[in-house]
Amino acid sequence: MSSMTEFPVLFIGDEHKKEKVKQILSPLVLTKSQQQEVSSVFLDEMRLGLASSPERKSSLLMENTFIPELPDGTENGEYLALDLGGTNFRVMYVKMKDGSITEEIVDYYHVPEERRLGPGAELFDYLAECLGNFIKKRKLGGRNLQLGFTFSFPMTQKSLDVGILLSWTKSFNCPGVVGEDAVKMLSDAIQKHGGLDITVTAVLNDTTGTLVQGAYMDKRCALGMILGTGSNGCYIEKVENIEKWHGKHQEAEMIVDIEWGAFGDNGVLDFIKTSWDRAVDSKSLLVKSFTFGKYFAGKYLGDLYREILLTLSKEGLFCSGNIGKLDTQGAITTTDVSNIERDNMQGDSETTRKVIEGVGLTCDEEDLYIAQYVAGLISYRGVLLVSLLTSILLVRMERPHCTVAIDGSLFQYHPRFRPLMERLIAEFAPGRPFNLLLVHDGSGKGSALAASIAERLQKRLGK
Ligand code: BGC
Ligand code: MG
Repeated sequence: MSSMTEFPVLFIGDEHKKEKVKQILSPLVLTKSQQQEVSSVFLDEMRLGLASSPERKSSLLMENTFIPELPDGTENGEYLALDLGGTNFRVMYVKMKDGSITEEIVDYYHVPEERRLGPGAELFDYLAECLGNFIKKRKLGGRNLQLGFTFSFPMTQKSLDVGILLSWTKSFNCPGVVGEDAVKMLSDAIQKHGGLDITVTAVLNDTTGTLVQGAYMDKRCALGMILGTGSNGCYIEKVENIEKWHGKHQEAEMIVDIEWGAFGDNGVLDFIKTSWDRAVDSKSLLVKSFTFGKYFAGKYLGDLYREILLTLSKEGLFCSGNIGKLDTQGAITTTDVSNIERDNMQGDSETTRKVIEGVGLTCDEEDLYIAQYVAGLISYRGVLLVSLLTSILLVRMERPHCTVAIDGSLFQYHPRFRPLMERLIAEFAPGRPFNLLLVHDGSGKGSALAASIAERLQKRLGK
C-alpha cells in the first residue's frame, strides 16, 4: 500500500531484481537539480514569451487573452457558450441575474473522427448545425444571443473576438484552419446555416474559461488549469509585463494563456526526456509537439505506461518476459493508470491484475507490485512537473491568497493528483497560501461569463 503524497516504493523481495527495475526506471525520477532546472527554464521561457523582441523563440505562447477583468457581480442576461476541444462538444445556454447563474441548459454532441480530421469548413458547418438544433430544440429563437466560444487550441488573439489558430493539438487536424480566425469561420458557418441570430463576442481557451468560472466561484482565483486529456495553464499578469503587447493600455492586468502543453517543443526540456517519452511522441498524431503535455496528460499517460512495461518485459523483468498486447498503442488507458493508483492506495491489486490480464498477460504478485510502482512513478513525475510550474506562478503573482481553478479528468479522478499537488506546491512556494478548486465545465459556464464580460467591456467603450 502506498501513500499518494509520498514517493512510490517498490515492494519486492528479490533485491537484485528490485535494483535492476529501479535502475532501468531511474530516468523517470527527477533529481533536485533537474527540478531546479525545469523551474529556471520555465521562467526563462515565460520571459521570452512575453518579450517584444526575444533573442530566441520561446516554446511558451504566453498569449494575451484580452480578458482584463473577471466576473464582478453585475452579469445579467442570456448567453450561449460553445465548447470545442475534445471528441465531445457542448452547446450551452446560461441565464444570469445580478452576477448569479440562474439557469443553464446544456447539450452534448459527438464530433466524429471525419469531422476532426476532415476539411475545416465542414467542421464549422457541423458546429453551426448543432447550434441550430440546440436553438430549435430548446426554443431559444426570436432574439439575438451573444456567444462565448471556447476553442481549446493554441491561438493568437488580436482582440477578445479574434482568435487565429496556430496549430491543432489533441485529436484534431482539419486542413484549412491554421492561420485562420476561428471566430470568423464560426460566424460564417452560422451565417451560411441561416435563421440564427447569434453573435460570437468572445473566443477563449478552456483554461481561461476555467479561471473565469473559478473567479465566479471564488474571488481570490487568479490561476486556471486544465489537467485532463490535454494540459494547460493561465494566470493574471500585469499588463506592464506583457512587453510584446505594444501601445498604451488602460488595463492593469490581463489573463495570459501560457499554453504550457507545448513547453519544451524547442528542446529546452530534452534533459528530462526518456526513451519512453520519445516512443509516445513518435507514435502520436502530432509528432514533436506538445512535449510537456506528453509527459503526463491524459491523452498520453496510458501509452507512456504501456511503453515502460514493454521495456521491462523485454528485459525479462515483467510477466516472465511476455509482452502480450503491450506493443499495441491504446491497449492501456490513462483511466487504467488512475485505477491502478487507486488500487495501490487502497492496498488492493484486483484492478491492477485485471488491467494486466486485459493485455493478455499472466502475472504473479511481484508483477503486480511492479505494475503499481510504474504507475506511481509516472504519475509522481507528472504531478511534480505541474507543481513546479504552479509554484512559480504563485510566487510571481504575489497574491495574499490564490485560488487555483482546475478542470479535467486527471485532477478529478486520478487519486494522486490533488493530494500530491497540495503537498508539493506548499513545499515549492512556501508562504504563498493557495487552495485547489475543482471547477466543473469552466469551458462551458466560463465561456458564457466571458461573453458577458465582453458585453460589459463593449458598453464601457461605448461600442
Ligand atoms: C491545447 C490548449 C488547451 C489544452 C487543454 C492543449 O492541447 O493546446 O489550448 O488548453 O489542450 O485542453
Ligand atoms: Mg474540455
